[in-house]
Amino acid sequence: MLQLSHRMSQLGTEAAFQVLARASELQRQGRDIVNLCIGQPDFRTPEHIVEAGRKALADGHHGYTVANGILPLREAVVADLHRRHGVTLSPAQVLVVPGGKVTMFFAIMMFGEAGTEIIYPNPGFPIYESVIRFSGATAVPMPLHESKGFSFSAEEVLALITPRTRLLILNSPANPTGGVVPKSELDTLVAGLERHPHVAVMSDEIYGEMLYEGTHTSLTTYPQLADRLILLDGWSKTYAMTGWRLGYGVWPQELVAHAERLAINCHSCVNASAQYAGIAALTGPREPAERMVAAFAERRGYIIPALNALPGVRCVNPGGAFYAFPNITGTGLTSRTMQTRLLEEAGVATLSGTSFGAFGEGYLRLSYAASLEMLAEAVRRIGGFLERAGVEGRRKAAKATG
Ligand code: PLP
Repeated sequence: MLQLSHRMSQLGTEAAFQVLARASELQRQGRDIVNLCIGQPDFRTPEHIVEAGRKALADGHHGYTVANGILPLREAVVADLHRRHGVTLSPAQVLVVPGGKVTMFFAIMMFGEAGTEIIYPNPGFPIYESVIRFSGATAVPMPLHESKGFSFSAEEVLALITPRTRLLILNSPANPTGGVVPKSELDTLVAGLERHPHVAVMSDEIYGEMLYEGTHTSLTTYPQLADRLILLDGWSKTYAMTGWRLGYGVWPQELVAHAERLAINCHSCVNASAQYAGIAALTGPREPAERMVAAFAERRGYIIPALNALPGVRCVNPGGAFYAFPNITGTGLTSRTMQTRLLEEAGVATLSGTSFGAFGEGYLRLSYAASLEMLAEAVRRIGGFLERAGVEGRRKAAKATG
C-alpha cells in the first residue's frame, strides 16, 4: 500500500480544467459546446513575440539560463513597471518563473505552515485556498461583496488579521468576479497594515492591464509596503501567452534569495526561448495587446446587459479582467446545478461560483474571452434553458408574493 503524505489530501484543484475535460468529451461525442469556462484570451500570441521566440531557438538559446531569468528580461520587467506605475524597482528583485501560478505557490509555501493563517479573497482564484491548505496553514477567507462591485472592505480585511497571520493575498482586477479594488480602499488597507508589520502581502496583478472602468492601483506604488510586498504578474493574459508558461514575481530584497532557492529546487529556470519572447512582448509595439483589450471591452458591452435581461439573473458590470460573474439566486438553482445542467442540457460550459470558494454560492462565472457570435449563442442557449426550467414563472411568483 502506498502511503501518501497527509498534505496531499489538502490539495485542491482548478475546476476549469475538469469542466474543460467534460466539455471536450461531449464534443468528441458530437455535441456542439460553447465554451466559456476557461480563463484565457481567444487570441494568438502577437506575431512579433512569436518571432522573437522562434529567433531565440534559431540562434541556439537551447540551454539553461540563470535561475532568476536573463538580465535583459528582468530589466524589461522593471522598465515596464516604471512605465505602468511610475515605480523604480531593481532587476535583482525580479524572479522570472513558468507562469503566474508559480509566484503564488512560492509565496504561500514560504510563509504557510501549521499554526499560521493566510488571508485570501473568496470568491477568488481557487489555487490560493488550495495551496494554503497544502502548506498546513489555516485559510482565512476575505469575503468579496457584490454590493461593492466585488471589492473588499479594508476594515473588514484588517479585522481578520491576528498574531498568527503571515500573508495577505490580494487580487485586483480579480478572477472570477472582474472586480477592481478602488484606490481609496487600498489606501485604508495600507494605512491599517502599518499596525501589523508581521504580515506580508502578495498582490496578484496579472489582470492589471485589462481594465475597462476606474483605475488599477498597483500595490507597488505604496513605498511603505516595499519590504513586505510580493508582486505577482506575468505574460499569460496581457499578451495571450498562457501556453508559453511565463510569469514573474517582484520580491522584497530580503525574500528574493529564498524564492530563487525554491526555483532552483523546482524548475531550475524558465525555458530560454520563452524568455526572449517575453522581452519582445514588453519592449515591442503595444497595439496588439491594446486591440485585445478593446475587443474584450466590446464583448463586455454585449454580455453584461444580455445576462441582465435573462430571468432570475443579475450581473454587475465588471471593471476589469474578462469574466462576468452573474448572481443566479433568482433562478432557484444552486451554482453547481446550474454549471452541470448548462453544460449537459444546453451545451454551454461555465463554472459554478463555488469553484472559487464557498462565498461563490449563488453565482456563475462566464469568461467573455470568446467571439461575439459565441457569446450571443451562449446567451440564447442559457435563455432557452431557463425557460425550459420554468425560471420565469418562479421569478414572477417570487415577485408576486414578495
Ligand atoms: N492569478 C490569477 C488571478 C489567475 O486568474 C491566473 C490564471 O487564470 C493566474 C494567476 C495564473 O496565471 P498563469 O497561467 O500565468 O499561471
